[in-house]
Amino acid sequence: MFEKFLKGKTAIVTGSNSGIGLGVAHRLARAGADMVLNSFTDSDQDHQLARDMAAEHGVAVRYVKADMSKGDDCRALVEAAGTCDILVNNAGIQHVAAIPDFPVDKWNAIIAINLSSAFHTTAAALPMMRKGGWGRVINIASAHGLTASPYKSAYVAAKHGIVGLTKVTGLETAREPITCNAICPGYVLTPLVEAQIPDTMEKYGMGREEVIEKVLLERQPSKDFATTEQLGDTVVFLCSDAAAQITGTTISVDGGWTAL
Ligand code: NAD
Repeated sequence: MFEKFLKGKTAIVTGSNSGIGLGVAHRLARAGADMVLNSFTDSDQDHQLARDMAAEHGVAVRYVKADMSKGDDCRALVEAAGTCDILVNNAGIQHVAAIPDFPVDKWNAIIAINLSSAFHTTAAALPMMRKGGWGRVINIASAHGLTASPYKSAYVAAKHGIVGLTKVTGLETAREPITCNAICPGYVLTPLVEAQIPDTMEKYGMGREEVIEKVLLERQPSKDFATTEQLGDTVVFLCSDAAAQITGTTISVDGGWTAL
């Protein structure tokens, strides 16, 4: 389904050298889009990812270093792409601490990377989409954009914020062939989630499998993780004509988490 229908389109995925961003980028490339990959690093491995993706899917793929915590870098990433039909705001980080102990630098970084970056990239990309006469802005929010958990104040605030930004972007483009939506995943077993497991094991005196079953999947009625491929499929669906009237809203891919 949806094979090669994005041929001739250019897609930017922020934070795409790992996890969900990498999975989404592969799926967009498989659908025929030329890709701009991004992270804040500039390693041989980053550029090799781009070469491998180009070879696998037969599309043009570039890697552009840009730090999504910096507004100027966000705008420069879009300018470096030269054109932008599809923008996936995916870059994100996490930190877990009670509010009185929450380090201010972590709060600022999470708000900048998980929320403000999407404002800057969207501001730079919308004029390009208007010039091209078509566009899709897809923000990777979270189940934490619709619900909350203790000790994740900055993450929950940023994800609720990006859901709000999605609504405003959808309204500002409603009369144009441009849509903006947010995808709200539950847990996906990526490096971001893996990084939380050791502390949780220590905190509750549990083994890895017990943390997965009793802490992470406890929130998900499906008792299973979503995959990066399934999130890629959701992004590609939002890029399709079938989704042309879906805008300013959220799609949950969370195994029932937010239905509870
Ligand atoms: P991940 O750690 O695998 O990927 C995060 C990506 O963001 C990486 O490519 C990283 O290099 C990039 N990044 C981090 N800081 C950056 C910066 N300053 N500039 C540019 N890029 C930067 O994690 P993931 O789970 O794939 O997360 C991707 C998105 O999905 C995040 O926005 C996250 O909040 C969201 N999300 C993840 C889950 C989950 O369970 N994994 C659930 C809901 C939402």
